[in-house]
Amino acid sequence: MAEFLTTSGTSYHIEKIIIEAKNKLVLVSPYLQISKTLYERLKDASNKNVSIKIIYGKDELKPNEKNSLAELKNIELYYFQNLHAKCYFNESKMVITSMNMYEFSEKTNREMGVLIDRSIDKDLFEKAVAETLSILQSSEPIPLKKAERQNAIQARFASKEQPKPKYQKQLRGYCIRCETRIDYNPEKPYCADCFSIWAQFENPEYTENVCHRCGEYYATSMNKPQDRDCFSLWKKEQW
Ligand SMILES: [Zn+2]
Ligand SMILES: [Zn+2]
Repeated sequence: MAEFLTTSGTSYHIEKIIIEAKNKLVLVSPYLQISKTLYERLKDASNKNVSIKIIYGKDELKPNEKNSLAELKNIELYYFQNLHAKCYFNESKMVITSMNMYEFSEKTNREMGVLIDRSIDKDLFEKAVAETLSILQSSEPIPLKKAERQNAIQARFASKEQPKPKYQKQLRGYCIRCETRIDYNPEKPYCADCFSIWAQFENPEYTENVCHRCGEYYATSMNKPQDRDCFSLWKKEQW
């Protein structure tokens, strides 16, 4: 029989699933943030040669979080837009729950979950695995290496022949100081909070952390909020 889990039980078992994974680990969570604890757990799993697949569905993963993930081996990241399910499993245990990945180390929300042991509920376990694989097949693999990502961006840009529908325009960018997602506008590259701090000094050359367009680490500023590649993409879009 599957076991009922409350918030703390859910956190506990998600973490346990990651720690005890022997050869495979699948994490399905619409919202994904890579906390330090989560990152360390994933790193341990990756060092044990566990194959890790993460499926998420909201475009909020910061490029620098992707960069940290890119340093791990055996890890694949997938994006599925309409993802709402949350399900975490290794080869023997699974948690299906309301809890998003980033919440497992926090315990503020009220969550519920069920723990499924493959050796006891094989049929149930296999059905959930099959559904996950079906989601995986319709998911978009997200390149983790910077070069692959640049290629993906440029490939998208190269198909510029047909007039681009409006929604394909770059709409979202990053605050160049704190990496928060904000509207893409190279003339306003700060989030409201960072802008109000910046405005106390108004130094247009003050060095910031990331590119406004792609969020990669890059010495940017109010005057130059984008790295070279992003600047030239932006230029081409301005004609
Ligand atoms: Zn900011
Ligand atoms: Zn950039």
